[in-house]
Amino acid sequence: MSAQGAVLVLNAGSSSLKYQLVHPDSGEVVADGIAERIGDRASSITHEQDGRTETDEVSLPDHRAAIERALEFFRAHGTELADAGLAAVGHRVVHGGRSFYEPTVITPEVIAEIERISPLAPLHNPANLVGISAARELLPDVPSVAVFDTAFFHGLPDAAATYAIDRAVAEEHALRRYGFHGTSHDYVSGQVARFLDCPIGEINQIVLHLGNGASASAIAGGAPIDTSMGMTPLEGLVMGTRSGDIDPGLVLHLHRAAGLSVDEIDTLLNKQSGLRGLCGENDFRTITEQIEAGDADARRAYDVYIHRLRRYVGAYLVELGRVDAIAFTAGVGENAASVRADALAGLEHYGIVVDPDRNAVRSREARRISPDDTEVAVLVVPTNEELAIARQSSAVVG
Ligand code: ADP
Repeated sequence: MSAQGAVLVLNAGSSSLKYQLVHPDSGEVVADGIAERIGDRASSITHEQDGRTETDEVSLPDHRAAIERALEFFRAHGTELADAGLAAVGHRVVHGGRSFYEPTVITPEVIAEIERISPLAPLHNPANLVGISAARELLPDVPSVAVFDTAFFHGLPDAAATYAIDRAVAEEHALRRYGFHGTSHDYVSGQVARFLDCPIGEINQIVLHLGNGASASAIAGGAPIDTSMGMTPLEGLVMGTRSGDIDPGLVLHLHRAAGLSVDEIDTLLNKQSGLRGLCGENDFRTITEQIEAGDADARRAYDVYIHRLRRYVGAYLVELGRVDAIAFTAGVGENAASVRADALAGLEHYGIVVDPDRNAVRSREARRISPDDTEVAVLVVPTNEELAIARQSSAVVG
C-alpha cells in the first residue's frame, strides 16, 4: 500500500512510542508499531506491516533512536518515509492548556508554548516534545501537527470547568478543569451520531472511555458540557493505576502525617492506586479471573470501580436532562461485558436497558447492546484516536 498522502501518527509517552501510518480518508492502516522501555537496556520495538509482525529487542536510548528504528522497518518494507509524500506527522500532545484548542501546525513558537505549559502535565508534555523534536529532525520536509487531548473540552461551560477555590490563585496558576481523552470523546460521539443516523446536534450522549486511563463525558448536541478528568488526568473515574476522585485533604494528610514527599504522593496516586492499588492488578482480564476464583480484593476493586462509574452516569443523566445514547469505548469498555452490564444495571426507569445476549456479542464494530425499543441507545463504539489525529492533522495542513 502506498504511503502517499498518509499521516504518520506519533504518541510519545515517557518511555514508549506508539506510531501508526494511516490514510486519513479511507482509514487504511499501512503499518503500526510500538517501542517500549525506551531509555532502558531492555527496550524493544514491534512493527506490523504487510501482514507481518516483527519484534526487535534492541537498545533504544531515546525517542530519536526509536523513530530511527521505525524508519528502518519502513525502509525494509520498501517505504522511505522521508520522501514518500506523507501529508503530515500528527503528534498526540496531552495538555494544550489555555493556549491550544485546535490542531496546530508545529513551529518553533508552538514548541516554546507547549514547553511553557508543561508544568500542567509534567509527566506527559515533555515526552510529547521529545517525540516532536525527533520527528522534525528525521523527517524535516514533512509538516508536523500537534493534536491536543484537552482541545475537545475547551468550551466546557464555566460552571463545569471552574474549581471552587480562591479566584486569584486559580488565575495565577491556570487552575481549571481541562479534561482529557478529548480526541476519543470527539471521535466516538461522532460515531454514535453516524450509527444512529442522526445529526450530532440533535442528540445528547454520555461517552464512557474505559481503558487503562478512564474518563466520562456528557455531550449535548455535539458540545461537551462536562467531563470527569480535570486539571490533570488524575481526577474522576477509578482507573488502572490512578485513584480518580479523592478527598484533597487526603493528600495533605499523606504529606503532614505520613511524611510522604510530593513526588511520592504523585507516584502513589498515579501509579500505585486505582485497580492496582486495590488488588495489585490493573488488567481487567486478570481481575475478572481473580473474581471468579473468589479473590476478595479483586471483588472490592471491581465494586469500587463500578460504584464510581455509576456515580458519573447518574450525574450526567441529570446534567443532560434527556439522554439519547450511552457509548462504551476503549479496552475495558469495548471488551468487558460485565462492566457494561453492572454500570447500567437497574436503570430501567430511565429507559436504560442492557440486553444480555447483545451485550455478550464480541465484535470490533460499533453495535447496539440495548433492545431496539428502549429510549436510550446503549452502544459499544470502538475508539480510534490514531485515525482521528490523522484526519485532524491532514485537514489542518490542507
Ligand atoms: P490505554 O490506551 O489507556 O492504555 P486501552 O484502551 O488499550 O488502554 O485499554 C487497556 C485495558 O483494557 C487493559 O488494561 C485491560 O484492562 C482492558 N482489556 C483489554 N482487553 C480486554 C478484554 N478482552 N476483556 C476485559 N478487559 C480488557
